[in-house]
Amino acid sequence: MKRLLQLVTIAVCVPTLALAVPAAAHADEPVAAVTLEALAAAIAAKTDARVDELLPRIDGVGRRLLALRSYIRSGGHLSERWSWTQERIAAYEGSIEQQELDAEVQRVREAFERSNPGYELFVNPQVRSLDLQLANWNHNESVAAASVRLLQDAVAHLGKAPRDAVPADMLEAFLGSYVPEPVPTVAAPGLSPHGQMRAIDFQVHRGAEIVAGPDTQTIGSTWEQGGWAARLDTAVREASRRFVGPLVSPREPWHYTYTPVAVADQ
Ligand SMILES: [Zn+2]
Repeated sequence: MKRLLQLVTIAVCVPTLALAVPAAAHADEPVAAVTLEALAAAIAAKTDARVDELLPRIDGVGRRLLALRSYIRSGGHLSERWSWTQERIAAYEGSIEQQELDAEVQRVREAFERSNPGYELFVNPQVRSLDLQLANWNHNESVAAASVRLLQDAVAHLGKAPRDAVPADMLEAFLGSYVPEPVPTVAAPGLSPHGQMRAIDFQVHRGAEIVAGPDTQTIGSTWEQGGWAARLDTAVREASRRFVGPLVSPREPWHYTYTPVAVADQ
């Protein structure tokens, strides 16, 4: 508590820490945004060492808060979900684990291509590294939109704090129950199941052409009306018991969760 107050006081006194608050927020309350950044850092520090290290690499206090929300909500599961290190990714290359996944993907691919002559099923064989997830988070439009809104809502919420409230506790509780709008289309950095090869995004190709790719804009036209969501799902169910999906929230008809042990064997 004492340390937190110090942090807030320091942040308020150092002008370089000041961040612009979106025009729609309380422009007459710049201290609130500065405080939010310090509060976010304090919450990150007590959440997890990896979160503490990563948070400064996320652009802007809104995106930081939005990511922090995911870390808070993953609670005790954060460690098991956290993306592989470069060493772990290197160990995965050529392993039996990788061979099993490749074989499972190949079964789905063959089933799909038998039913859809002329079309190929493509998957990215790379583990999605933490750096790549971070870059996606910093550039994704849905994350940007949800961050602006979260920042405004957090400023408004803390503005209603009772005199005896502990700001960090209040912000942590607020983030833990906050529902972002729009729903971000990528996972907070570190928490993507692609970071442990526990998810696969399938794409439909025809020669060099991407017929159906992992693009939210094409869900209605290509995946639904074009029938590729149903065709992919048929192939996945026919060929594999290790893929579960597709992802429902956010809707991603190309994204399937991979469970290394067959569901029926568990
Ligand atoms: Zn995915």
